[in-house]
Amino acid sequence: MLKKFLPDEHVERILDITPEKLKHAGIKGVITDLDNTLVAWDVRDATPEVIQWFKLMRDNDIKVTIISNNEKERVSIFAEPLEAPFVYSAKKPLNHAFRQATKAMGLNKEEVVVVGDQILTDVLGGNIAGFHTILVVPIVQTDGKITRINRMIERRILRWMKRKGMMTWEDK
Ligand SMILES: [Mg+2]
Repeated sequence: MLKKFLPDEHVERILDITPEKLKHAGIKGVITDLDNTLVAWDVRDATPEVIQWFKLMRDNDIKVTIISNNEKERVSIFAEPLEAPFVYSAKKPLNHAFRQATKAMGLNKEEVVVVGDQILTDVLGGNIAGFHTILVVPIVQTDGKITRINRMIERRILRWMKRKGMMTWEDK
């Protein structure tokens, strides 16, 4: 069960996920979290780097869907200018939104990676649903209210995994 908290990969920023790497692994779609994965949770719009990343993915025929537990207004205001499909109020780690998005992209789960900054929602949800999962370092160290509680639990899990030697990456 605890293995379900472990991401398959760990990168510093979403920008480190490149079309070359994805294609090499046979990946054709990305499901990404929004808050603290693409931009800080309190930043409204995509940054130029993130806009460029979406364009790069599109130019390489890699589909990207944003799945967020945040509310409709936040997610739609962010995603619509990017012309990216999105799911809001997704209730991650439940798998409904992941399945729905994968189907909408016309892909199967072996062709999709799930990316996010939280173990208890993004990684756990992606793993339970059978996707390859990539954990990113949160863009800022602060969070919205609900996430703060998740982070407390997450820190305990991370400490435990570290003690057991299950973490193969280094904290900074
Ligand atoms: Mg997040």
